[in-house]
Amino acid sequence: MTDSYIPYGRQNISPADIQAVVEVLQSDWLTQGPAIERFEKAVADYCGAKYAVAVSSATAALHISCLAAGLGPGDWLWTSPNTFVASANCGLYCGASVDFVDIDPHTYNLSVAQLEQKLSRAERLGTLPKVVVPVHFAGQSCEMDRIGELAQKYGFTVLEDASHAIGAKYQGQPVGSCQYSNLAIFSFHPVKIITTGEGGIVVTNRQDLYEKLTRLRTHGITRDPRFMTGSSHGLWYYQQLELGFNYRMTDIQAALGVSQMQRLDEFVSRRRFLARRYDELLQGLPVTLPAQHSDTASSWHLYVVRLNQDKIEKTHREVFEALRGAEIGVNLHYIPVHTQPYYQKLGFQWGDFPEVERYYQEAISLPLYYDFLESRQQYVKQTLAKILQKTNL
Ligand SMILES: *Cc1c(COP(=O)(O)O)cnc(C)c1O
Repeated sequence: MTDSYIPYGRQNISPADIQAVVEVLQSDWLTQGPAIERFEKAVADYCGAKYAVAVSSATAALHISCLAAGLGPGDWLWTSPNTFVASANCGLYCGASVDFVDIDPHTYNLSVAQLEQKLSRAERLGTLPKVVVPVHFAGQSCEMDRIGELAQKYGFTVLEDASHAIGAKYQGQPVGSCQYSNLAIFSFHPVKIITTGEGGIVVTNRQDLYEKLTRLRTHGITRDPRFMTGSSHGLWYYQQLELGFNYRMTDIQAALGVSQMQRLDEFVSRRRFLARRYDELLQGLPVTLPAQHSDTASSWHLYVVRLNQDKIEKTHREVFEALRGAEIGVNLHYIPVHTQPYYQKLGFQWGDFPEVERYYQEAISLPLYYDFLESRQQYVKQTLAKILQKTNL
């Protein structure tokens, strides 16, 4: 079974996906054409959200979402430290300050209890956040009803980083419905649930945010006379109303996205099946399996185990390296963002968020993707069991 490397995640591209891309290449529109609109409609309809704005990456989606929410210098953005750096960087792009809320020790999502405490402290200090970014880690939704209540009470914008979670559900509704939030974003990087090569999207139910996002995606320009100051000079006329970017997605990418959306449920059900199978295979090993909140149905972007170190003679690093040595492409999600040198220069220190730091010393993401064969999964289990054995000669 060690004849080839097992990655932790990878895309699945079908003949229909390839055909969809070829059709765009043979058409009149390579960008800003009809495939973008079809993709936006497919994602908005799937999520039950009113609007979707496709962009070049989830990082771009986070950036313009923060700007649309009015985030700027003097404001605070809070997120989870157990995420990719982009969830925090978007605040810094806007000139705002960033802070973190430590994680729940079971779901590894931002802890709502910690959030609540931190908000009441911030209210006294006058440092309440303008934007909070809950990250649906591994594809499992955060406790959005409680976060929504806190948003009402303290008046912040909720921007869901759902990069891992397209196809997931919360209280029976699709993640991205924005029932308890103002905006949600998805990533279409190849390791995520569906892919457009590179790409991201923002979904929202608010027309004002939607209009702002479409302008920010393309240089802050509008061609709609309703938004112009003064009257139009003619058919060629456009106005730049604010400082935007070129964050457009191409029609080539969007066509791939439309085609991939048709298989989203199939992708997620395969991932759910493999996750349940891991749950069974790994029973009895000295690892903590991923806990699921009863309100959630994860899309299973990641399957993370935590080593029970008091029952293992090897270090976390030794286990990780032994798995890599057996051609198993395990990974670690995530290095706590506040421990990155860039964030340490901003004043954060090891020890600031103990729960995520403890998690970081124990977590390993096992391979999980659509094409992952059950025989390969068996090999991962056997290899892990052998590595974790107490008396290993
Ligand atoms: C992948 C990812 C991003 C960034 O996505 P890109 O599309 O690569 O910009 C942001 N947040 C989280 C949680 C991610 O996993």
